[in-house]
Amino acid sequence: MGKTIITNGHFYGLPNVTSVLCENGRILSITPDISRTYNNTIDLKGGWAYPGFIDGHMHLTGLGWSLETLDLVGTHSKKSILSIIEKATLKTPTGHWIQGRGWDQNDWQNASYPTAKDLDSVSSEHPVVLRRIDGHALWANTRAMEIAGISIKTIEPKGGNILYDELNKPTGVFIDNAMTLITDYIPKSTENDKYRQITKAQTLLNSLGITSVHDAGTGVKDIRAIKQLIKENNLSVRVFAMLNDTPEDYEPFLEKGPITHTPFLTVRTLKVYMDGALGSRGAALLAPYSDDQHQSGLLFMNKDELAAIVQTFNSAGFQVNTHGIGDRAIRIILDAYEESGMKEMRNRIEHAQIVHPIDLKRFKKLGVIPAMQATHCTSDMPWIGERLGVERLSRAYPWQSFAQLGNPIPGGSDAPVEFPDPLAGIYAAITRQDSLGWPDGGWQQQERLTLKQAVQMYTEWPAYASFEENNKGKIDVGYYADFTVLDRQLSDENPKMILDTKVIQTIVNGKIVYQSYNETK
Ligand SMILES: [Zn+2]
Repeated sequence: MGKTIITNGHFYGLPNVTSVLCENGRILSITPDISRTYNNTIDLKGGWAYPGFIDGHMHLTGLGWSLETLDLVGTHSKKSILSIIEKATLKTPTGHWIQGRGWDQNDWQNASYPTAKDLDSVSSEHPVVLRRIDGHALWANTRAMEIAGISIKTIEPKGGNILYDELNKPTGVFIDNAMTLITDYIPKSTENDKYRQITKAQTLLNSLGITSVHDAGTGVKDIRAIKQLIKENNLSVRVFAMLNDTPEDYEPFLEKGPITHTPFLTVRTLKVYMDGALGSRGAALLAPYSDDQHQSGLLFMNKDELAAIVQTFNSAGFQVNTHGIGDRAIRIILDAYEESGMKEMRNRIEHAQIVHPIDLKRFKKLGVIPAMQATHCTSDMPWIGERLGVERLSRAYPWQSFAQLGNPIPGGSDAPVEFPDPLAGIYAAITRQDSLGWPDGGWQQQERLTLKQAVQMYTEWPAYASFEENNKGKIDVGYYADFTVLDRQLSDENPKMILDTKVIQTIVNGKIVYQSYNETK
């Protein structure tokens, strides 16, 4: 393949550099002799090359799956959803499952939960399951509940809720672990399905400038599909996998040990869940929800259970990344990490949304990484005040507090929960405003990040959180030749300009994997 000169551009953090030389997927020189000719040339056409953007928490096959199912994101009424389902029934063979995602009752005029009966009015022949925007609640029709054998006698699993009507019958909404009562009956994705989903997801990700992802829940089938894509030389995002907390997914790795020195796939992490999410009141809080005094969230395990997992995995060379959103869940996770975690394993708390002030400093002390998603904050801010009440709002999404304490904060989208656009993430991180600039000055504006920090959130910080700070996150000799090329320099002077910024090229391993214009030959 020989050497590739990437030329005629600007390079983030390197004011005097206009060209970079690459070989075998890595940067060979940032001061190349540009009077020479090289085997290959990539012309940046005056664009601004940033270190390749990393999505530090997303769901790779989940994103691909979402591109193949009904998209309900942005629907503003139950009626509009029902008409989407009705249309889908006309195109789907009778008896086949209809799946969708993205409903959010908070966006409806009547913000109460929907029911199976609503769906039955447009679909009696097809089982229908629709996931809530955050993936933490499932809305099913009667046909789906029949297939799953749901009745008045069905027992709620640990860490799950079934909603009931006044006659004590399940209404059709299943929260967190109760979702599996239905989803266990949906035909499982095959390795071929996973391969196709990853292919679709990476095309979208590359078009948004993403060169690496942290996959927050990887199974053996996903890994086989990823390895197949690597073998064919067709994987165009580097994958840092977090293994699912199911024995069939983690046991083979626990036996053989982590996979660390392959450029496109790293497997050295376990993903577990401590609580649910705020939207469905599943996040475990220290005090009850302000808009439902009977609820303070769901815990999926206790401290001792997590401490035992951490002990097993850390001592086998695996990082543990625990989903923790509410302040109660976060405290328990920190306690478990403190009891049996190893600092050098860089254990993480995924989301870390509501943090009690007492617990903020424990992250740095214990070497625990808060992995946070900027657009969760700006999506949640319109309704989160009702859930938490005024006093607790200053503990919500405390990015700048964490940064001031010296914590790296890997950013991410949690796609398909949020659209995986890193520029939208950078904008949200520096403004804490929606795309229209609401609210004035930013929501809990003291926690905004600077532009430099926001760029770190999608480059250096996720690189550190995946033990890849010597390979990724910077433009320097020896680093991977991964670049996100923008049509302009990012600036915080007029933050809305960030939303108008275009990705013109995405370069992975020294090769163009996306460009927004056609090459003229
Ligand atoms: Zn997630």
